[in-house]
Amino acid sequence: MNESDSERIAAVLENTNYQAISDINKADLVVVNMCSIRQSAVDRVYGLLPKFKKLKNKNPKFITILTGCILKKDKKKFISGFDLVLNAKDLPKWPQKLQLQTNKTIKPNSHYLKISPKYQTNFQALIPISRGCNNFCAYCVVPFTRGPLVCRDHKEILKETKEAVQKGSKEIWLLGQNVNDYHSPTNVKVNFSKLLKQIDEIKGDFWIRFTSPHPKDFSNELIKTMDECRKVTEYLNLPVQSGDNEILKRMNRPYTVEEYKNLVKKIREKIPEITLSTDVIVGFPGETKKQFQNTAKLFREIKFDMAYIAKYSPRTSTRASEMEDDVPRQEKQRRWKTLTEILKETALEHNKTYVGKKVKVLVEKKKKEFLAGKTKTYKTIKFEGPKKLIGQFQKVKITKAITWGLKGKLI
Ligand code: SAH
Ligand code: SF4
Repeated sequence: MNESDSERIAAVLENTNYQAISDINKADLVVVNMCSIRQSAVDRVYGLLPKFKKLKNKNPKFITILTGCILKKDKKKFISGFDLVLNAKDLPKWPQKLQLQTNKTIKPNSHYLKISPKYQTNFQALIPISRGCNNFCAYCVVPFTRGPLVCRDHKEILKETKEAVQKGSKEIWLLGQNVNDYHSPTNVKVNFSKLLKQIDEIKGDFWIRFTSPHPKDFSNELIKTMDECRKVTEYLNLPVQSGDNEILKRMNRPYTVEEYKNLVKKIREKIPEITLSTDVIVGFPGETKKQFQNTAKLFREIKFDMAYIAKYSPRTSTRASEMEDDVPRQEKQRRWKTLTEILKETALEHNKTYVGKKVKVLVEKKKKEFLAGKTKTYKTIKFEGPKKLIGQFQKVKITKAITWGLKGKLI
């Protein structure tokens, strides 16, 4: 989500007399688009302040802007460290605030999502379909920093997607904190499944991915739609957060482990080749060793392809911040490691099933002598080839499975 906002920020600034550069030491303006999900991300922003001070001493024109998800308490502290703290929602007004000349295509009173983003690559497009979240999971700061769920008009999403595809995008990412709670504000009948269908009908050779769905809103209609829509990829990040019912309840995640497992079963029955990843938190307040073992058990049973394993970090305003953060740091680390070890095995097990297959790959980048890309099922694959293939679909034969991906040969 922040990446997508950054693409719009870049578009607005490049419409003025600023130009993107990669070396911060030569910059006249820096925008920090921060995330408050975890304390470590906030600490990284604090860590930037001495560097900014130095750059300001060297270059009096140097301006620093802070935006993104900022908690009130941090905002107060950051006001003195940054020249400006601006809301990304007010992006169309930024040139005015910064007293910059801009061309007239961006009207100061327009909605920030109406700004055409400057995508980081010309073959991938991050398209927000909603902002905010109404779920108030006990650990999560998003409903406080991003506000309630607001969905974008489906017509606007379709227009942005069509434009991106026409410009050569091969991979469309539909983004939202709870994508499958999507309902178009101009036509309530257009839910997430209907939106996927409409996007799938857009002409062109491209893939559709989305993140994040919530298990509680994962309908049979959506499973059927994912199966039927040719462009919707066989990849799903389905955050579980915990494998223990008591913890799930205290996290305010309204499903049980059994319901989650049943959902995965239904998805795998319809789409057997699906790559399944998850988000999970270890060391939630009061999580006992036994409760953690239930999460480890779930990991062994589901055999995820990938997982984003987070160590619980208390966030102000959230319900969990009133609970004692009583799992020691080392114990959180130990639990993190246990899940990572299980994941390494299950990921490799899945990856091995690919060896010998010929797959379509979207080439993303070149690292040393290897090209790296993703399969439709979102497996990372490395193979030798020329740089000019970046941004294209290629056929690759898989020769080897490794823990976090695949190796192959261009066909
Ligand atoms: N909307 C998504 C996730 C958004 S936040 C969902 O419903 O799953 C991304 C991930 O950060 C979460 O899935 C969670 O695993 C992690 N996270 C959020 N708050 C956290 C906290 N206080 N401590 C540790 N991890 C957290
Ligand atoms: Fe946070 Fe996701 Fe829960 Fe919303 S659904 S409160 S974004 S974890």
